[in-house]
Order: sequence, then structure tokens, then C-alpha cells
Amino acid sequence: MTQIALHNINKHFGAFHVINNVSLTVEDTEFVVFLGQSGCGKTTTLRAIAGLETIDSGEILIGGKPVQDTRVEERDVAFVFQNFALYPHLTVFENMAFPLRAVRTPKAQVETTVRRVADVLQIGGLLNRRPSALSGGDLQRVAIGRALVRNPKAMLMDEPIGSLDAKLREEMRVELKRLHVEQGSTTIYVTHDQIEAMALADRIVVMHAGVLQQVGAPEDVYANPVNLFVAQFVGSPVMNVADVTLAEDAGGARVTVAGATQGFAFPSALLGQVAATGPANRPLTLGVRPEAVRLTLQPAPGAVATEAHIIEPLGSHDIVDFRIGDATLRARTKAGFVPGPGVPVWVTLDHSRAHLFDTATGQTLG
Ligand code: ATP
Repeated sequence: MTQIALHNINKHFGAFHVINNVSLTVEDTEFVVFLGQSGCGKTTTLRAIAGLETIDSGEILIGGKPVQDTRVEERDVAFVFQNFALYPHLTVFENMAFPLRAVRTPKAQVETTVRRVADVLQIGGLLNRRPSALSGGDLQRVAIGRALVRNPKAMLMDEPIGSLDAKLREEMRVELKRLHVEQGSTTIYVTHDQIEAMALADRIVVMHAGVLQQVGAPEDVYANPVNLFVAQFVGSPVMNVADVTLAEDAGGARVTVAGATQGFAFPSALLGQVAATGPANRPLTLGVRPEAVRLTLQPAPGAVATEAHIIEPLGSHDIVDFRIGDATLRARTKAGFVPGPGVPVWVTLDHSRAHLFDTATGQTLG
């Protein structure tokens, strides 16, 4: 059983606070993905768990034992690097056997373990090759295989498929998921690719500037982002955002995009919800994902009139850009639904899937 727990960990590089009071528990067999922009501190956090980096304060527990003052070897976690870090002069077999030989594993056991793990990763036929004779995907399999042979307590992976081309990344993503289902190792995986994070994670940890922003199941983080940063970082195409004002009219609440003449009707409960957290007339930001924007080609009750600007046909669906007031927004439509740019369209929002954020703090208001 390998749970990994971080309690209020902090790390500075000089004056730069790279890990800012991070607390998190990764459960046994869980696959957790650290997601964030380059430089947000996710690699440093992963390296701190592995023992490759010291921390200034806080506690790291692996399997319930505090490890922050122990050496890398004593933590018994495997680390997979983005650049694979294989030995070029050794064969695949020797690369994979290396961690076992380092702890003086008997020869026969090295042989069986390497072959078993190679079979799992479908690289049994490559054991006599050197890394220079392998494709990117196979190099990655060898790097993972080398991490797996010791049957570590946990797997820590730093952008392990980041250097592969898009198609191979997609294939490897499926393989990593299969491997995790089969092996069940507690895994922490670092990426800046939100699609990879959504596809792989039991839970996503969104980081920004050294601070955990949100921890949750991918679908929950996607549907209920706690702030504007998470809302815009998770999801592709990105969530539409627009500066809005909120007012009351006969039918209930009305949300009007800055610079627009018409607004969207929302249930009146929204006003109360917003007022509960501060003045309702403060600057607000509307957030709505393209799939929660509905376009019609005829006027519809409560719809805002505009025209299609750019249409991106993506095969299974289209993304249609249009302007309302000062904002450019995007809707996801059926393929070919809007015949061309310049066509008049009417816009309604699925308000059960729209979000309002306090513009000053970025925090969600519901
Ligand atoms: P990336 O995806 O680019 O690796 P990251 O989110 O994993 O980004 P980190 O690698 O943890 O971020 O780095 C966080 C910040 O700390 C970066 O600004 C980086 O330049 C800085 N940093 C990392 N290692 C050191 C170091 N040894 N000394 C000084 N600054 C460092």
C-alpha cells in the first residue's frame, strides 16, 4: 500500500517561491496528474517527492513514513524522465537490468524480471538493441520498463511522452493507461498538456505559480473550475470569457457582455448568489465553454443576434467564432451547421453550464 502525502511543503530558489505551501494526498494505486504551465513548480514538486530536490519546510510521507530527510534510494520510488535518460552504450536488456544489478539482484532473477516487464511493454523483441536503434515510442517504453523492474512503491513521471510527436503521444497515452490498470502502481505524472491530463488522471492537480489551484476528477475540474485560471487552462478550445454586467429585469437576472446592447437571461437566483459574496455590481467575468453556447439560424426567444465570423471545420464538429459587444466568443456546432462567415446567427447560453467569476479575485461565483 503506497500513499504519498505532502504536508505544507515549501521550496525557494533564492527569493523565488517555487512550491508554495502545497498539501496533497495521493491514494494507493491512484493516478494523479500535476497540470500547469511551464515554470509553475510541478517538476520541482515531483523531484522533491523523489528526493532529487530538498524542501525548505513541510513533510513528505511515502507509505505513511516521513521521507523528507532520507536519500533517493531509501524512498523506493521510480522516476521516468522526459529525455528518457538511457545509457547509450548499453543494450535495452542492460538498461532495464541496471537498477536490479545496482541492488545485487541474483542473475536468474534479473533475467526473468527484465523479460516479464519487457513482455508487458511489448519490447521483448528489442532487448539486444542499443537505444540509438530505437524509435521514440520504444525508447519511452524502455525508460518506463527500467522504472518498473524494481517493482517500486510509486512511479513518478515527468512529461514522459512530451518529446514524442502528436500521433505517438496519443498511442503512448493509451498504453500508459493500460499499464496503470494492469500494474496499479501509485503514480504521479507531470504535464502541461491538459488533454493528456484529462485522459490519464484519476485526479488532476492544477498548479499555478507554485500554488495548488484545484484538485479533482478531470470531469469535475472541467465542469466546476474554482477560478478563472483553472477555467481557462483546462478545456480545448478554451472557455469563452467576457467582461459582463449583471442586472435585474422583469424575467430575472440579465447578463450583458461589455459593449453589447442585448443581454442573456439567467434565472434570478443568480443575483442572490452573486450578492451573497459581495456587491452584485462589481466587475464580473462570464465564462462559458463552446459546447454550452447554442447558435440558431433563426431568431429565438431571448437570443442575442450577431453573425458568424470565422468557421473552423474539424470533421466531427465545427467551431464558430462570433462577436458580441467587445468580446469574441466561440461555439461548438454540428459540422456544416453555419453555412459560412457573415451568416446571421442567434446566440443563447446553457446557463446551467455558464460560470460567473469575480474579475478582481478570479474566484468563481457559481
Ligand atoms: P517545466 O514544465 O518547464 O519543467 P515546471 O512547472 O515543471 O515547468 P519547475 O521545473 O518546477 O516548473 O520550475 C519552476 C521554476 O523554478 C522555474 O522558473 C525554473 O526556472 C525554476 N528552477 C527550477 N530549478 C531551479 C534551480 N535548480 N535553480 C533555480 N531555479 C530553478
